[in-house]
Amino acid sequence: MFEILFLGTSASAPSAKRGLSAQIVKHDEYRFLIDCGEGTQRQILQSGVGFKNLTRILLTHGHLDHILGLGGLMSTFLRWEAVEELDIFGGRTTLDRVHDLLYGVVLRGNQAPMPLRLNEIKSGTFFEAEDFTVTAFSVTHRGPDCLGYIFEGKSRRPFLPEKADELGVPFGPERRDLVAGKEIILPNGKRIQPDDVLGPPQKGVKLVVVGDTGKTDDLLDACKDADALVIESTYIDEEAEMARQFSHLTARQAAELALKAGVKKLILTHISRRYREKDVLKDVQVIFQNTSVARDFDSFQIKREEQ
Ligand SMILES: [Zn+2]
Ligand SMILES: [Zn+2]
Repeated sequence: MFEILFLGTSASAPSAKRGLSAQIVKHDEYRFLIDCGEGTQRQILQSGVGFKNLTRILLTHGHLDHILGLGGLMSTFLRWEAVEELDIFGGRTTLDRVHDLLYGVVLRGNQAPMPLRLNEIKSGTFFEAEDFTVTAFSVTHRGPDCLGYIFEGKSRRPFLPEKADELGVPFGPERRDLVAGKEIILPNGKRIQPDDVLGPPQKGVKLVVVGDTGKTDDLLDACKDADALVIESTYIDEEAEMARQFSHLTARQAAELALKAGVKKLILTHISRRYREKDVLKDVQVIFQNTSVARDFDSFQIKREEQ
């Protein structure tokens, strides 16, 4: 299961109710901050999530509404809060701008208060834990090196307790060994193979997060069969021409992508402060019913639906 907590859901400039782009994806003890618009550190405090384990920041692109908060965050880390280390991931152009902000403006010759790494990434899997991976893919927006991110649980074979009961496998370490892929031998000498008690592989849960984008046709593959797709929706249908001009999406385009890609839930963010939520939903729900427009501090649990 992944959980996504929205810290900022406004496009380009904040509104009274919405902060600038930032969201945290959680899985067990892992935390990934995706984008860090101005004011993100205060949203982190207000949400109650805190800075603990917040050691990885993934950037979708280098526009100011997605990165300026890194300056404030680093300034706070210099004097107050501490994290053990900080890894920032993004495309080359994005990291160049972040480098200027952090080293040129904030640190200015001072040492970062923790080991700080700017990690250039391209399309492909760049992070792997025991039971999930994070993969970057390329996104078309203004400027080069824009990325989206796929969080995906590894596929696993479910344990079938009724089979184990039938075969007389006792409760305890024997079952754990079978799940781990090891053969066991029962007291009566009978050998039990993992295949005897494990069902067919089931795909892990898939969460896709796209930042700003002007196109959807090149996102189909990445979004395919996602349990949830988080994507920008800066404009509504009436302003489709503006969306095209500034390389952003309308809510309708996002919904059409979700439908085509077989996504289960659509969560829209990066909302222009000129619209109300219902303006956005009106364009969408005729196309894709299971849609939410994220508000600041909304949190969604992304699970695999029972098959
Ligand atoms: Zn933006
Ligand atoms: Zn942008």
